[in-house]
Amino acid sequence: MEDLSKLSLVEQINGLKSKKFSSIELTEFYLKRIDQEKVLNSFISLNENALKEAKKSDEKIAKNKSSSLEGIPIAHKDIFCIKDQKTTCGSKMLENFISPYSSTVYEKLSSSGTVNLGKTNMDEFAMGSSNETSFFGSVLNPIDPERVPGGSSGGSATAVAANLCSFATGTDTGGSIRQPAAFCGITGIKPTYGRVSRWGMIAFASSLDQGGIFAKNALDAALALENIAGFDEKDSTSINKKVPSFFNQAKSKDEEHVVGIPKKIIEDIKDDNVKNNFFESLDILKKSGVKVKEIDLKNIQYSLPVYYVIAPAECSANLSRYDGVRFGHRCENPKDLDDLYERSRAEGFGEEVKKRILIGTYCLSAGYYDAYYLKAQKIRNLIKQSFMDAFKEVSSIMMPTCANVSFKLNSIQNPVEMYEQDIYTIPANLAGLPAISIPSGKINKLPLGIQFIGNYLEEGNLLNLSNKFQQNSNFHNE
Ligand code: GLN
Repeated sequence: MEDLSKLSLVEQINGLKSKKFSSIELTEFYLKRIDQEKVLNSFISLNENALKEAKKSDEKIAKNKSSSLEGIPIAHKDIFCIKDQKTTCGSKMLENFISPYSSTVYEKLSSSGTVNLGKTNMDEFAMGSSNETSFFGSVLNPIDPERVPGGSSGGSATAVAANLCSFATGTDTGGSIRQPAAFCGITGIKPTYGRVSRWGMIAFASSLDQGGIFAKNALDAALALENIAGFDEKDSTSINKKVPSFFNQAKSKDEEHVVGIPKKIIEDIKDDNVKNNFFESLDILKKSGVKVKEIDLKNIQYSLPVYYVIAPAECSANLSRYDGVRFGHRCENPKDLDDLYERSRAEGFGEEVKKRILIGTYCLSAGYYDAYYLKAQKIRNLIKQSFMDAFKEVSSIMMPTCANVSFKLNSIQNPVEMYEQDIYTIPANLAGLPAISIPSGKINKLPLGIQFIGNYLEEGNLLNLSNKFQQNSNFHNE
């Protein structure tokens, strides 16, 4: 039989349809791969019904009743609730939490026919850039196991990069799809805020959180994304707009591109390798006929401080529900109600989460609300406005995804240095814009990514641009 591990999503769909292999064979193959690669620690739990799901898919394929992704084994970040399955969000707080309902993203992929292999490892409550804050231990980068896969969706990125599945779900609040995609040499897309339902996706910072996809290339990402996007009345911020076929749009010859280069940001890139890689990538685009224009993105330099006020503020509100009464961990023998709250939270949350709750509570407190939270919201608006001004002249904006390649495990102890990992990814979250990271080469065998940020609802245009880049380069296959 052919080497199943290298197959893209599109190739798998064709293979299943033409009965080259069955969903059971594909699922068994991946379960074995996951077992072989256990040291990577990319999964928190496996779905014991995976083979049953595969069998059902095979029956549907046999009867010509397949849905769009029938029989395709995939992995879900352990932030998406699945009914009657464990959903931990990488935390001791939810170590034994069995969800009573399923997230819309899971429901959609399940009704598209996918087979759920299991839940992937992640930074605790999606807070982190290295997957080192998970209660279930660090995830290793399959390209160099001494290094981090990035975070917070490190388990999903690793699973795709190590060929443990062809695509996986993730979430991106400040870069958690794009940064790990770049560190692991794969494609990762965060759609427009509101394009993918947040229902059943455990909340970190609700005005920034957005579900998305990890895949081997832009076409696969397009196909996967069109299966999770769409209006959902259960999410009040869901966008009620028709979802086009991102796959057709990604392949189309009619999409036009004028790519904006934010001059100051590019000039200020500190790492020469990253800078050179950016210009090499730009050359590839130019050779494929894409127009390029220099732009000015004002106030972008404030993105990081703005994010680290807004995200902790929202997290402190969202995580107040874990009180030892309604969900998750409860301490033993509490003296009284205060003791129950205090010890349950002290025991259930890890260091990074506690730090964020403290910062967020401080920023929202009566004396500081105006000085921090309100000020941050105002600057957030200015950042959004800069993007809107830019999109009057260009169709997308190109930046590096990260300021560096993957770093060694435990090597970053300074929290600010860790927060700076998302310096290029956070602006798109603050503005709610779609953004994608695709592989753009390597430095000493370690992958780098470039990022395209698009205007609202222009995922298809970004995927088209990415596909163009991938047709004229081979980094995504290395
Ligand atoms: N690294 C950023 C943080 O820790 C972003 C995380 C994310 O996108 N979920 O907040």
